[in-house]
Amino acid sequence: MTAKNLRQTLSGLILLLVMALSHAQPLPTLPEDDNQLVYAIYKELIETNTTHSIGDNTLAAEKIGRWLRAAGFPQEDIFIGGKKEKKGNLVARLHGTGKYKPFILLAHLDVVEAKRADWSMDPFTLHETDGYFYGRGTMDDKAQAAINTANMIRMKRDGYQPNRDIILALTADEEGGGSNGVYWLLQQHPTLIDGVFALNEGGYGLIQDGQRIANSIQTAEKIYESFTVTATNPGGHSSIPRRDNAIYDLSEALLKIREYDFPLIFNDVMRLGFERLAQISPGQLGEDLKAILREPPDPQALARLGQIPSINALLRTTAVATMLEAGHAPNALPQTATAVVNVRMMPGQDVEDVLDTLVKVVDNPAIDVVFTGGGRPSDPSPLTAEIIGAVESTTQAMWPGVVVLPTMTTGATDGAKMRNAGIPTYGVSGLFIDRNDVRAHGRDERLLVKSFYQGYEFMYRLIKKLSS
Ligand SMILES: [Zn+2]
Repeated sequence: MTAKNLRQTLSGLILLLVMALSHAQPLPTLPEDDNQLVYAIYKELIETNTTHSIGDNTLAAEKIGRWLRAAGFPQEDIFIGGKKEKKGNLVARLHGTGKYKPFILLAHLDVVEAKRADWSMDPFTLHETDGYFYGRGTMDDKAQAAINTANMIRMKRDGYQPNRDIILALTADEEGGGSNGVYWLLQQHPTLIDGVFALNEGGYGLIQDGQRIANSIQTAEKIYESFTVTATNPGGHSSIPRRDNAIYDLSEALLKIREYDFPLIFNDVMRLGFERLAQISPGQLGEDLKAILREPPDPQALARLGQIPSINALLRTTAVATMLEAGHAPNALPQTATAVVNVRMMPGQDVEDVLDTLVKVVDNPAIDVVFTGGGRPSDPSPLTAEIIGAVESTTQAMWPGVVVLPTMTTGATDGAKMRNAGIPTYGVSGLFIDRNDVRAHGRDERLLVKSFYQGYEFMYRLIKKLSS
């Protein structure tokens, strides 16, 4: 290399450096007040659009990265990466003494779509009105993302030395979109998230009639599975109808599925969950919950509870027709009729058993039942004394008398992916919400301001209890 080349290379490098510095965003100033800190992060997250359509998860991850760097987290302890350019995930680590193995604070940064026209206000501006924070993601799941970040910062700033590493993982595409961050991290960077358990979304405090009644901890999820049910027939001209008919045959099969109740299944978590739910449920509902816990379960109580869709879904695997396709012409007898039957399987059950059951229920060899795909079954996370003990004592300290309620969700979170990877995962937040006014994914999503700050404190205490 000649001296001239060297000079050119050097001046080129200096130019690049100057450009990099001028393009680097300044680090935020950390507010001294802890509540102002979490509020500033929350506001920035809500106001960073992370929808699948036009949002940028990477941008949100980078903003979190700057907060962490401002608090003194070294660059090498902050990872940002993802399957696609705008689907970045952030993983950061607070180092502990190594006495115990690390655990993970998991939350997702992406949000479901929100149209300005559907809302009373701009969904991507944080509004504080009448004691609520409004905005897309205020509840699902940017409160938890902001709270986890702020708590990492508090611990770092205070020089807290945990007895184990604490890993913050804020991810993409939990709500769909094909670049799921948890899946990607587990596949591509398992050592970044080598926790022995994770705290995640999916558990909330429950308010009823203005009273805090329970703090839930989610330890299991039902599994989504899809089947098709198909009737076939030689068909013919509709001017000469016959009794055998693909549409009629399929209809009969679907009505049999409607009438069939899968058996009652309790796992240990649900048994404890129902015991606690019975304690806080007045009247007949409470009595019925107690009655199905007896051995054998009371059939009348079970029948009554089966009439309540939200309870029924917790008691058993469910199967329901969701889509239909049949016939090929208005004037022809149908040659095929197909329905999609969506199944939500209890954890610990087997798809093959569900398929056998559906075939028996339909009870017609001319009808084909086919499994078309779904989630991998995941086992419930064990409610260890360490976890439930810490959640219960923190709950009692903050809200004396509030019951800790183990739950299974009928929908899905990233918890199932973590459990499948062998990382027991618990949905717990201490964020109290009105159980009859849940607006996650809906219009005017909101969270009580008081709940936000108390959930922040709850998580701070819980994280410390689990790491000291
Ligand atoms: Zn969520």
